[in-house]
Amino acid sequence: MARIVMKFGGTSMAGTERIRRVANIVRKQAANGDQVAVVVSAMAGETDRLVNFCREANPLYDPAEYDVVVASGEQVTSGLLALTLQALGCKARSWLGWQLPVHTVEAHAKARIEDIDSDALLASMAAGEIAVIPGFQGIGGDGRVTTLGRGGSDTSAVAVAAAIGADRCDIYTDVDGVYTTDPRIVAKARKQKAVTYEEMLELASVGAKVLQTRSVGLAMKEGVRVQVLSSFTGDDAVPADELPGTMIVSEEEMEQILEDGHMERQHVTGIAHDKNEAKIILTRVPDKPGAVANIFSPLADASINVDMIIQNVGRDKGETDVTFTVPQTDLPRAQALLEDRREDIGFNRIITDSHVAKVSVVGVGMKSHAGVASTMFKSLADRGINIQAISTSEIKVSVMIDEDETELAVRVLHTAYGLDAD
Ligand code: ASP
Ligand code: MG
Repeated sequence: MARIVMKFGGTSMAGTERIRRVANIVRKQAANGDQVAVVVSAMAGETDRLVNFCREANPLYDPAEYDVVVASGEQVTSGLLALTLQALGCKARSWLGWQLPVHTVEAHAKARIEDIDSDALLASMAAGEIAVIPGFQGIGGDGRVTTLGRGGSDTSAVAVAAAIGADRCDIYTDVDGVYTTDPRIVAKARKQKAVTYEEMLELASVGAKVLQTRSVGLAMKEGVRVQVLSSFTGDDAVPADELPGTMIVSEEEMEQILEDGHMERQHVTGIAHDKNEAKIILTRVPDKPGAVANIFSPLADASINVDMIIQNVGRDKGETDVTFTVPQTDLPRAQALLEDRREDIGFNRIITDSHVAKVSVVGVGMKSHAGVASTMFKSLADRGINIQAISTSEIKVSVMIDEDETELAVRVLHTAYGLDAD
C-alpha cells in the first residue's frame, strides 16, 4: 500500500464530463489499496473570470477580499469531485483550506504555506476515505482565507505530499510529461523520462509552463517525488504506478536512471521560451558608484523582478547606458517608477521594447561540458538571429531576441543540441 497525492489542473476539471474522467482515474488508484489525497484546481478560465469580477467591482481591490472571491473556484471543483466519486461508489470528502487547516504566511493573493495540519487528513485516509483538497487556498494568521498566487495548486499538492509523507505526488495535466521543448513549436520534441529538480526549477522559471516554479522548489527541499502525466488518456492507459509520465528526481536518482538505461547525459535537457519579457534601456546614466543601486532598489521594493542586466562600458563623459529586462506585465509600473526617479537616477532617456522574448537552454550536463553557450550563439548567428542580451547560471544560458524570431530560435537550438526525435 502506498500513499499517493494526485493533482488535477484546470483543463482536467473543466466541466462535469471531465470531472467524471478524473474521478475514474482516482477510483482506479484507490482500488489498488492505496491511500489517496486529491488536490484540484478551479475549472479552466474560472480564476481569470473571478479576478475580472474583482477588478470590475473595485479596481483598487483589497487583496483579502480578492482572496475570498478567487478561492471559490477550487471550493466548487473539490465539492464536485467528491460528489462524483461518491456517485461511483467511493468514500470521499472535501477538505477546505481552513478545515485541514493549511496555515499560510505573508500577503494575501501571494501567500506562502507554512504548515499543514495532517492529523485529521491522515485519519480519514487511513479509514479508506479519499480526501479531496482545493488547491490554491489556505488560511492566514488572522483566520481569513488566503490564496497562493496564480498556478498555486501545484504548490498545494506538493505541500500536502510533504505533510503526509506521500510516496509520490502525481501532477495530472493536459500534456503527458515534460518535453525537451514545447511540442507545438517543435514536432520532433521528445518526452523525457526524468529531469532533475534543479533542471525543472530553471525550466519553470524561464517559461516552461508545466509546473509552478515554487512547487518545484518545495519538492526539491522536501524530497517529494513528483511525476507529471496526462489526465487525457483512455481506459487502456498505462497505470500511473508504472511511471508513464516524467519523473522529477534528485541528481542521485538521475545518475541511477542513466546508468540503468545505459544512457549518456545530454548537455542540454530542455529549451524554454518566454514572450512575457520587456526590455528597458536607460541612456546616459552617471557612471559612478551607487548609480545602478538607484535604478534597481525601487524596482525591487515594488516586487518587480529584473532578469537580464547589461551595463555598457562608460563613455568618455562618465556616462553609461543600462539595459535590463522585466516581465512585460510589469513594464508600465516599472516605467512609471523610473520616470518618477529621473532626477535621482540622473538618466537622459528611457527606451522600452516589449517585442522581445527570452529563449533559454537548460541542462545539468553543461556543468561538466564546455561549449554549450558557444553552440547557442553560433547556431543563432547562422540563422541571422540577433542576440540583444545574455544571462547565465550554472545550468542555464538565456538570450533575449526579437519576439518574431522565437519559434525559429527554439527549432534551430533543438536541432543544434541533438534533441530532435528520430
Ligand atoms: N486556479 C488557480 C489559478 O488559475 C490556481 C491553479 O490552478 O493552480 O491560478
Ligand atoms: Mg497550472
